[in-house]
Amino acid sequence: MSEPGPVGEFGLIDWIRARTRVGGRTSLGIGDDCAALRVTTGADLLATTDMLMDGTHFRLDEAGPEAVGRKAIGVNLSDIAAMAGRPLAALVAVALPKGRAVELAQGVLAGMGPLAQRYGVDLVGGDTNAWDGPFVIAVTLLGETTPDGAVRRSGARPGDAIVVTGPLGGSLLGRHLDPRPRIDEALSINRRARPHAMIDVSDGLAADLGHILAESGGLGATLDADTIPIHPDAEALSRRDGRTPLEHALHDGEDFELCLTLDPADAEDLLARPPAGVTLHRIGVVDAGPGLRLATGGGLVPIEPRGYDHLG
Ligand code: ADP
Ligand code: MG
Repeated sequence: MSEPGPVGEFGLIDWIRARTRVGGRTSLGIGDDCAALRVTTGADLLATTDMLMDGTHFRLDEAGPEAVGRKAIGVNLSDIAAMAGRPLAALVAVALPKGRAVELAQGVLAGMGPLAQRYGVDLVGGDTNAWDGPFVIAVTLLGETTPDGAVRRSGARPGDAIVVTGPLGGSLLGRHLDPRPRIDEALSINRRARPHAMIDVSDGLAADLGHILAESGGLGATLDADTIPIHPDAEALSRRDGRTPLEHALHDGEDFELCLTLDPADAEDLLARPPAGVTLHRIGVVDAGPGLRLATGGGLVPIEPRGYDHLG
């Protein structure tokens, strides 16, 4: 016989608490009114949160709670990566459908475990609610900057090389539920080359590069169609829907690769001798004038940003 499951909100919290180990940075984990963390003197605290809703960001009945838990912490880790930060601790708030509450909470926690462990993230708190609505989860992730500093979206300069860390497109075939946050890659890139600007590709390359360009004072960019790395999933999706693999690579989103801009000489050096375990593709150049353009064999064509807009 399996062990009886926890009963009620506090039974569930006790169950989670009993399965949560906290490391050296956490002075106080689950069980008090707040968690307490020891942060490094001189570092900036990084804070990010993402809410995922059944029916919008995933389909619980298809994905299952483990995949949802993995995605919920993965997307937040990806945001910490995009700042070249080091993750520390997570808080998890859930709205659980009544009737399946305990089973879902346990599944979500199991799904988060491996990524949390891999990146040394302590689960230090959260909030637990049940209702008649669909499953909703919001993970808040805390991290800190390293002595190399944070990399913002706002530092791109005309003439910068644009680089991405991996192939893009077609994540809807399944990779969107399985983010591989580029934490280690971001730290080693930042140690070596000090990118001027960086973002993780969640809305789509065109949209996210657009965020960098907008935050950097209204710059533009020209992407070289031949150099944009296209994921095999983008090819597979293209055979189904007739949109080109390149369109998928430019617009699909949820690739969770990094897009960065840096001094062209630094880019050359970085690409010639990439840090261990890091894949880099140089895909274009930042322009002084606004607008996003694609250089193809046939000339320059404008790229319209059309990432997903939740209020659109
Ligand atoms: P409060 O009423 O002070 O907000 P709660 O009863 O909501 O306290 O939570 C008690 C403790 O359990 C707190 O430390 C809180 O952070 C933690 N907690 C609640 N829900 C979760 C959860 N889903 N995952 C992790 N920790 C949780
Ligand atoms: Mg509470």
